[in-house]
Amino acid sequence: MLNFKTKTFNCPHCETHTKHKWCYLAKGGISENGFNYYLGFVPDLIFGLCSHCNNFTLWLNEKIVYPHFSLAPQPTEDMPLGVKETFLEAREIVMNSPRAASALLRLSLQKLIKHLGEKSRNLETAVSNLVDNGLSKKFYDALLVVRVIGKNAVKPGVINSKDDVKTAIALFNLLNMLVESTITQQRKVNQLYTSLPKLKSVKRRKKMQRKKTKAVQKREIIPKPTLLYR
Ligand SMILES: [Zn+2]
Repeated sequence: MLNFKTKTFNCPHCETHTKHKWCYLAKGGISENGFNYYLGFVPDLIFGLCSHCNNFTLWLNEKIVYPHFSLAPQPTEDMPLGVKETFLEAREIVMNSPRAASALLRLSLQKLIKHLGEKSRNLETAVSNLVDNGLSKKFYDALLVVRVIGKNAVKPGVINSKDDVKTAIALFNLLNMLVESTITQQRKVNQLYTSLPKLKSVKRRKKMQRKKTKAVQKREIIPKPTLLYR
């Protein structure tokens, strides 16, 4: 959590956990001759200077207003494009409207589950099918808690008053973890398999198969002898 005036926090510019210098903003006029006039400090507006990258953050009434800051994680590498679009849209608004972000994230989850090949329109059935096919049961339990499935489920895209920042952040993380456990894991296994020397038995089987195919082709090419003269 990014807290106003804490001694150290993750700088939104360089993402380094470092110290920040806090400065008040003054009202006044400056010309080439120096200070012309001074009208005191600007109330409630403070800036923090990062000791690592020297960039500044601007805070109004103890809330960061620059740069745009989101507690939500970035989408994971293998997230499908359609899912990612909604994920990023939710990321933009989560700090101001966690309820709207949660509605978008449930839509993202629905899109992801469809992308994973689940045809059932009922999300609970679709998630159960994924669990039957090897997905950790913990996903099912977590989706129950954040009301994606179950008797208290909120329909994807629908605003619900109970959704808060904590629920939205859990939904962001669940989406990322679901992508990693399915798409990323499958991609990594495929990459590993293709990088491995093929097993002898597999090689031999393929060689035999090739031989068989060639023999069949040869038989098909040789014309059957026909008796033209008797
Ligand atoms: Zn920095």
